[in-house]
Amino acid sequence: MINAWKVLREIARGAAITSRHFFVNMTFHTLRLFGVKTKRRGAVTIQYPEVRKELSPRHRSLHRLRPREDGRPSCVACMLCVTVCPSECITVEAAEDPDPEVQKAPTRFIVDLSRCCFCGFCVEACPVDAIRMDTGEIRLAATERSALERPLDKP
Ligand code: SF4
Ligand code: SF4
Repeated sequence: MINAWKVLREIARGAAITSRHFFVNMTFHTLRLFGVKTKRRGAVTIQYPEVRKELSPRHRSLHRLRPREDGRPSCVACMLCVTVCPSECITVEAAEDPDPEVQKAPTRFIVDLSRCCFCGFCVEACPVDAIRMDTGEIRLAATERSALERPLDKP
């Protein structure tokens, strides 16, 4: 049987927690309004996805291949990122490049985001700084798993 006192007590507890957050946030916002600097900031509601919060420059977002001057990816298909990736989610298919300076280039470069753990090891391992995680894009939702296989070799 439901204990009415217990239910009322929990409702009161929930209301107290909500009120505490409301008054604490309001206090911080009011202090800032009057120019008082505080260690903490009051919580704000961001109207996502219309409004996007600015990410830290160090944030690891979705991958991209840095382009050369002619627009082709600067990747030389050395496979170091494929080797180092702990989730084994990078697929690179390589072919010879007519440019003797380049030698090899990827014909296919896929990151399977359904398995990526965003560790950034691929970025650290790349000897030519070809792969970066600085797109600022963090949206990953998809209705099919295959949609999370992201090709990076196409601009
Ligand atoms: S961020 Fe980590 S898990 Fe994701 S592709 Fe790079 S090495 Fe693999
Ligand atoms: S992205 Fe970098 S590490 Fe990965 S295959 Fe290309 S050149 Fe090698």
